[in-house]
Amino acid sequence: MREMNSLLEATGTTIFTVMSALAVQHGAINLGQGFPDEDGPDLVVAAAAAALGDARLGPTRNQYPPLTGVPVLREAVAAANKRFYGLAIDAQSEVVVTSGATEALTACLMALLNPGDEVVLIEPTYDIYVPVVKLLGAVPKLVRLEPPRWELPRAALEAAFSPRTKLLLLNSPMNPTGKVFGVEDLDFIADLCVRHDIYAVCDEVYEHLVFDGAAHIPLMTRPGMRERCARIGSAGKTFSLTGWKVGYVSAPRAMAAVIAKAHQNLTFTTPPHLQRAVAVGLAQDDDYFAEIGARLAAKRTRLSAGLASVGFVPLATRGSYFVTADFSAFGFDGDDVAFCRYMVEQAGVAAIPVSAFYAGAAPRHYVRFAFCKQDALLDEAIERLTRHFAPQRLTRSAQTA
Ligand code: PMP
Ligand code: GLN
Repeated sequence: MREMNSLLEATGTTIFTVMSALAVQHGAINLGQGFPDEDGPDLVVAAAAAALGDARLGPTRNQYPPLTGVPVLREAVAAANKRFYGLAIDAQSEVVVTSGATEALTACLMALLNPGDEVVLIEPTYDIYVPVVKLLGAVPKLVRLEPPRWELPRAALEAAFSPRTKLLLLNSPMNPTGKVFGVEDLDFIADLCVRHDIYAVCDEVYEHLVFDGAAHIPLMTRPGMRERCARIGSAGKTFSLTGWKVGYVSAPRAMAAVIAKAHQNLTFTTPPHLQRAVAVGLAQDDDYFAEIGARLAAKRTRLSAGLASVGFVPLATRGSYFVTADFSAFGFDGDDVAFCRYMVEQAGVAAIPVSAFYAGAAPRHYVRFAFCKQDALLDEAIERLTRHFAPQRLTRSAQTA
């Protein structure tokens, strides 16, 4: 048979699926793939169920909704932009609802890139960025953040721009680092985008999952960025409903129109009852949004403290579902991929190797743990890790003493 798409043929199964399968196989606690083990808010789940059968919505309520999303959700997205960030977004022409942030990202990249265009990406990158950029025939230009501080290397970022640069993709709060980009970095990035007259696609799925008083600031709010940014949110993260796959893009009218064309070619629409329920979710009062961040912050603290007690060195994380941790203290003879395999098989806890988020040279002694889990499960994971690693660590420190 003839060759199929060479890039996709060469693509492996995502690390999230691989580690989740290993977790099931070994009866391990899955702190790998980032999904909560509790249901989303009753109000939102009930709204979806009700919308399926709500006669007031008419007999076409379960048929194709409008291409860019049901009006009530587009209005809710516009209102949330105003409420949280002071952004005036037109619900009619500047919002596109998608089947998850995954589709939103692909649609934005399809809408903005031609083959040969260069895209500045900041490593560690979420798993779909590099493959999708390449599938579109565009060229990733990678700028690396390094643990433990994940600081933005400004000179390297500036050097990554060229006359062929078309867009920059920014993920803040960032998976897997937990970095929340501050205003100085954002203004530096904004200035580069304006000077080079490029677009920015902003993956802000963790926008409400921020800790310790950190403020999430959309790049779109910075000078010169309103007209060149597409800002992506996800109901999966904001409402702990990752299986729903409802995402939303806020972008200036001209960009939104082309993003809608990409969406038309990808999925065309997104299930209407889920959209209606997400609109109910976005209309909740500020307490909901503050509370989801506070609850996750407590879980972050719980897991990080536990990991530290086992002998990992957990890094600071200000947002997202994740904490990355250095495992070098164990003296393990192997890289992060080997360590994750070892840990899932021998200690019964699954995590994600951080090198999976790098396309080239990568740090090799960090793993990512998801803390969006019930406290009892986090505690059980720490107990398992303690049983497995702590005695060895004690033996070794006794030897070196
Ligand atoms: N971007 C980032 C940074 C993510 O971690 C995820 C993970 N779920 C997504 C996008 C995809 O979001 P969705 O599930 O809404 O497609
Ligand atoms: N975003 C999730 C994570 O980083 C995984 C989503 C997926 O499995 N594709 O864990």
